[in-house]
Amino acid sequence: MARKLFIAGNWKMNTSAAEAAALATDLVGRLGAEAKVDLAVCPPSVYLTTVRDVLKGSAIALGAQNAWYEDNGAYTGELSTAMLADVGCAYVIVGHSERRHILGETDAMINRKVLKVLAGGLKPILCVGELLEQRKADQTDDVVARQVKLGLKGVAPTDMARVTIAYEPVWAIGTGEVATPQQAQAVHAMIRDLLADLFGKTIADATRIQYGGSVKASNAGDLLACKDIDGALVGGASLKAAEFAGIVAAGAKL
Ligand code: PEP
Repeated sequence: MARKLFIAGNWKMNTSAAEAAALATDLVGRLGAEAKVDLAVCPPSVYLTTVRDVLKGSAIALGAQNAWYEDNGAYTGELSTAMLADVGCAYVIVGHSERRHILGETDAMINRKVLKVLAGGLKPILCVGELLEQRKADQTDDVVARQVKLGLKGVAPTDMARVTIAYEPVWAIGTGEVATPQQAQAVHAMIRDLLADLFGKTIADATRIQYGGSVKASNAGDLLACKDIDGALVGGASLKAAEFAGIVAAGAKL
């Protein structure tokens, strides 16, 4: 089944308000009418409304970089899915490797977040990926399969249409070192087989699996041409409008 490519930019903690507005404006100019590829940008949460206002009426959706798994209460510094929906988010990145490895998020927490994002009517982008030492020790499939299984525990098959998985080998994130298309495709195929075991082949075939890790305009075409790679989650290169647009163009011409 043909899956529409989905390319999302994760701006992390990298823009000022003025930079976020300028970047969003530039992206709308370049990609605002894009129809072949689904697009989203995930700005720092304090600038979600600024960016939302710029994106309004364009083909670029708004996403958040994180969410909490309770509805409200004493969770200093956190944001609920209702708050994110309220400011116009469609997507939420969940379980990014920086949150797993710097901020100590566990698979159990990430699973609660996935379920809460879905319950809130939003679309999670569940990030999974192995560390360099795990790849060197031949543990990639085990690690990634465990993260997918635990992250999606209890997800209703009917909700899978709103789930994107992002395979992001940790050693390739922000390092300039990109997985080869063969390395990435092998893990994506493994994830899709696992989804077939968990949810059946129809759902597995319909689920989008993005690749993330030093994607740029010059390597996007080869990655996105792989059978099981259905888009990209882009960090550094999403901060430059021309580069992000180049990645989208590489996908749009496939
Ligand atoms: C990311 O943070 O999700 C990511 C893939 O970053 P980069 O593109 O900079 O490697």
